[in-house]
Amino acid sequence: MRGRWGEKKWTAVFLTLFFVNSGCQRDMHTVQENRILMDTLVSINVYTANFAEEPKLRRAIASAFEEMARFDSLFSAYREDSEVSKINRNVSKKLITISEDMYNVLRVARWASEISEGAFDVTIGPVLRLWGFGTDSMDLPPPEKIAARLPLVNYKNIVMNRPYHSGEKFRILFGILQSPENVSLDLGGVAKGYIVDRGIDVLQQNGIRDAMITAGGDLRALTSPLTAASRYIWIRHPRDSAANPFFSRFKLEGEAAVSTSGDYERCFFKAGKRYHHIIDPHTGYPAAAAVSATVVAKNSVQADALSTAIFVLGPQRGIALADSLPEVEAMIIYQDGEKLSWRATPALQKKFELFYSEKASAR
Ligand code: ADP
Ligand code: MG
Repeated sequence: MRGRWGEKKWTAVFLTLFFVNSGCQRDMHTVQENRILMDTLVSINVYTANFAEEPKLRRAIASAFEEMARFDSLFSAYREDSEVSKINRNVSKKLITISEDMYNVLRVARWASEISEGAFDVTIGPVLRLWGFGTDSMDLPPPEKIAARLPLVNYKNIVMNRPYHSGEKFRILFGILQSPENVSLDLGGVAKGYIVDRGIDVLQQNGIRDAMITAGGDLRALTSPLTAASRYIWIRHPRDSAANPFFSRFKLEGEAAVSTSGDYERCFFKAGKRYHHIIDPHTGYPAAAAVSATVVAKNSVQADALSTAIFVLGPQRGIALADSLPEVEAMIIYQDGEKLSWRATPALQKKFELFYSEKASAR
């Protein structure tokens, strides 16, 4: 079996969000390193006016990668030794202890589930596995199997107590109500964002003020006057148009995180129909209301969870949800009959430059 995010995927996802520093400041130097983590290409860019700092900056980047790799091995459901796999193996009627980071991720997941009325749900595991995404056996599951597993998907079944100290240890108890032995967690919609945030923390602890971490469709930036006026996010055209590789772009103002979820990232076709990896927890089938969803938020974990949630909710409910949240902007591209259309929160719509002008219409 290939890794959860196979090689094919990272080449595709890398193109989801483009970040460009334009404006060509003569006194700006970029120090960049790339690694494969979370089965995707992760890039750390640090910007400085003083190139003599380079060795120090490279050491900080190495520490950030080290921290991100540590978390990668906690959250992947496709690694036998990850914490999430251990949880999935040990879910039974008994409560178990989880790490503080797992608790943090699950708290954001719960928040995203609550505000999206269950469109985001990390207990999607049993249904998601039927589809085989990330393996060589992706296929349309029999409807009766989906129907049988759907009742296992419900974030409300997760119970966590408040963290408490027990001797030296910080303990959080975790458990699953109802059929616990068949429930499994999948953190694919939120963990990458959490890991990008941890990388940014390490850069900040090392005194870095201007940086960017990109991990497939997730990105977070720290900004100083050096780059403040010159950052653009380019949204890839979701249907691989050679003539029109980009759908739109907008200027990224201040410090922010951006995530995109799309139906083109991991998918297969059967009888001419596309089936992809973002599942509507209410039906057990790939969510059909959107083609891609982009979210701008203060941090990457929120942007990541919200881009998946808003993708599932679609243009009306998804944009209404983003609009209701402070410091969150969003844009959704969706299929509108034969053409692609888009819809965005008002503040983002104002910043938008559309390249897909001939058929798209803003609503
Ligand atoms: P990517 O992993 O390509 O960055 P997303 O952030 O949108 O894209 O996450 C999609 C992943 O989230 C899926 O591969 C799966 O692991 C998980 N997932 C799928 N459907 C849901 C859902 N409704 N709620 C939460 N997680 C989901
Ligand atoms: Mg996501």
